[in-house]
Amino acid sequence: MPLVSMRQLLDEAAKGGYGVGAFNVNDMEQIQAIMSAAKETKSPVIVQASRGARAFAEDLYLFKLIQAAAELNPEIPIAMHQDHGNSFETCKSAIELGYTSVMMDGSLKEDGKTPASFEENVAVTKKVVDFAHARGVTVEGEIGVLGGVEDGHGAGGTGLEHITDPDQAVEFAERTGVDALAIAIGTSHGAYKFTKKPDGSVLKMDVLIAIHKRLPNTHLVMHGSSSVPKDLHDVINQYGGKLKETWGVPVEEIQLGIRNGVRKINVDTDNRLAMTGAIRKVLWETPEKFDPRDYMKPAREAMKKVVALRMTQFGQAGHAGDYQPVSIAEIAKGYASGALSIKPLVAAR
Ligand SMILES: [Zn+2]
Repeated sequence: MPLVSMRQLLDEAAKGGYGVGAFNVNDMEQIQAIMSAAKETKSPVIVQASRGARAFAEDLYLFKLIQAAAELNPEIPIAMHQDHGNSFETCKSAIELGYTSVMMDGSLKEDGKTPASFEENVAVTKKVVDFAHARGVTVEGEIGVLGGVEDGHGAGGTGLEHITDPDQAVEFAERTGVDALAIAIGTSHGAYKFTKKPDGSVLKMDVLIAIHKRLPNTHLVMHGSSSVPKDLHDVINQYGGKLKETWGVPVEEIQLGIRNGVRKINVDTDNRLAMTGAIRKVLWETPEKFDPRDYMKPAREAMKKVVALRMTQFGQAGHAGDYQPVSIAEIAKGYASGALSIKPLVAAR
């Protein structure tokens, strides 16, 4: 199956009332882990690469691997997404490479650290939307600022400094025409999300629900949504690691989000933990080993298990065969004719 538009994937998810995991990749083993989980659970899937991943793997290596994944798994709809594009140029280069979706994170300036003004965010996001939609490519925007830092991208902090204002989210969606919207509700990137089990005081699910009520047809995106399960954390420390105690986003909170308009859930940290734990275990228990396959194989298997579990928890499992992919060229026509404009964008009050 050729790569599919993320918009189509999310529209189908909205119809079916489920969420779709967006898993970050940097190398072949991670792509294989995701695809094998998708195949096993019959899930449509979003594979995403950050700027750091694109630099680490070199664009062409990574993109050809994704193409191989699509070719080897014709029954699985796959969208290839640029995670946290920092500028029009970054998004343009991803689109020209063949990505079917981009995130323009205009909540931060191009340095990926300094919060941008609302007007700056609208301007750069609208520019990306015009360029992307003309080519049938989906756009995710961000309003509010997430906490933490990942791959050198992020404003830092706890994630509570710049919670999304629902009125601003509505204005942003109206003025930019984004397909999907990442909102800040207190989640953070990286392994250290919360210093206690998150409850209503740290995770603003009421804000998410308020935004969904106003923007019922804009697909909401939860970033920094690894659950950081204790067992994955413990394996690392059991075999010589030194991770501090931490809490992630409980799966039940994500499921509450899915019932309220969340269609894309970004997961990276959990997979990193799973792979690193598996590698540490092999090297700790059998220090005489030196063939990378001896630890990459269990690492790939450990990541696959986490991904398959999330696919089941998010509800995307079993939905790979629900629909036929629409070509990117057809999607572009849909944007041009207005057939894909989101209506009603704002719910009547
Ligand atoms: Zn993110």
